[in-house]
Amino acid sequence: MRGVIMHAAGDVRVEDRDAPIIQEPTDAIIRLAASCICGSDLWPYRGSDEVDATPMGHEYVGVVTEIGDAVENVKVGDFVVGSFMASDNTCEICQAGYQSRCVHVVPMGRVGTQAEFARIPLADGTLVATPGQPDDDLIPSLLAASDVLGTGWFAAVAAEVGPGKTVAVVGDGAVGLLGILAAKQLGAERIIAMSRHADRQELARRFGATDIVEERGDEGIARVKELTGGLGAHSVIEAVGTQQSMEQAIRSTRAGGHVGFVGVSHDVTLEGQELFRSAVHLHGGPAPVRRFLPELIQLIWDREIDPGAVFDLTLPLEEAAEGYRAMDERRATKVLLTMP
Ligand SMILES: [Zn+2]
Repeated sequence: MRGVIMHAAGDVRVEDRDAPIIQEPTDAIIRLAASCICGSDLWPYRGSDEVDATPMGHEYVGVVTEIGDAVENVKVGDFVVGSFMASDNTCEICQAGYQSRCVHVVPMGRVGTQAEFARIPLADGTLVATPGQPDDDLIPSLLAASDVLGTGWFAAVAAEVGPGKTVAVVGDGAVGLLGILAAKQLGAERIIAMSRHADRQELARRFGATDIVEERGDEGIARVKELTGGLGAHSVIEAVGTQQSMEQAIRSTRAGGHVGFVGVSHDVTLEGQELFRSAVHLHGGPAPVRRFLPELIQLIWDREIDPGAVFDLTLPLEEAAEGYRAMDERRATKVLLTMP
């Protein structure tokens, strides 16, 4: 089969890989209907994370082609969506709703789902079947549920978004944009998108943003305060993972408010005194997407949300390298890869 391999920073190639086989009785094999490139794939692409001929990709939707002897919840032919973290969905941590920290967790990045087929470990806990075979136009939205939608949704839940609240969103990548969609769905009264890109502002408004703040740093914080009677937002979604974005998020939150942080943290250090004085709740980490999948799949199936709109470039798997370049150069927000 064909699959994406990153040999070194900036060096992405599509190569022949061995087709996956069942290794454990709890495995399933899927044929991908589509895959995509994640903002977090840019960390190794830009040299911030190590790579060495690493298979890439952790987002996936597709049809089950084979199951191990112990798999009971999905069958061959089912169309399935799964999280970027495989989980048993039965341990205490999973039962509490934190499947991305399952005691048996398997990061799907280790499998590499930018490929024609993928082995899904812990299939019973990881995969959720859709109500039937989806129409083609639903596939991008179902694929978004696998990571970016589920992550934006968790960020909103972690930030305690709800009716009557003002939400600020730091980061206008796919996760930030879908955090806006989630905040809208969860009943936020006002949603402030922090973005300085015209095309992303447009999508932010379409997903439910009521205000746009283009300023960053102290000026950005001042603008959010200005829009919230000097207090700061009730709920802030952090969807970048840098020192600047974390500071922006914490300082834009009112005392007693909540920050949901889901940007993969890179070299972030929080200053103790400021954190102490802020009196804000911090809750985040790798999103337990599996917790939300049944609800998100239904919303997509019923066409109540269209998270697939974050894909603004579609390329054949074979042209994945161009997809990485386009995202790296910010010519694309998120790239969908079609299968041969
Ligand atoms: Zn578990």
